Amino acid sequence: MIRRPPTIVCYICGREYGTKSISIHEPQCLKKWHNENNLLPKELRRPEPKKPEVRTITAKGFYDLDALNEAAWTSAQSQLVPCNICGRTFLPDRLIVHQRSCKPKAAK
Ligand SMILES: [Zn+2]
Ligand SMILES: [Zn+2]
Repeated sequence: MIRRPPTIVCYICGREYGTKSISIHEPQCLKKWHNENNLLPKELRRPEPKKPEVRTITAKGFYDLDALNEAAWTSAQSQLVPCNICGRTFLPDRLIVHQRSCKPKAAK
């Protein structure tokens, strides 16, 4: 069995980071999130993501990383905005790029 070093899912962007780098990444990611959110048109702005509070501790006294990561992942997913044309979900900055090329199917 290969043991991967534990990774933590960022609750803002949904990417995985090592247990050390997550504490460096999170404040930067939140700052970036605010910058991006401020640039978005009003209807695409989102409430600030909340860090999920997961207090599950396994029998061995460790945090239940799976539960934590799942909650973080769900939180990151809620940051996605659905395209009002095709219904696919994107990060808001991606959505703007996407909508330039997303055309409603021409009715015949
Ligand atoms: Zn992040
Ligand atoms: Zn679309």
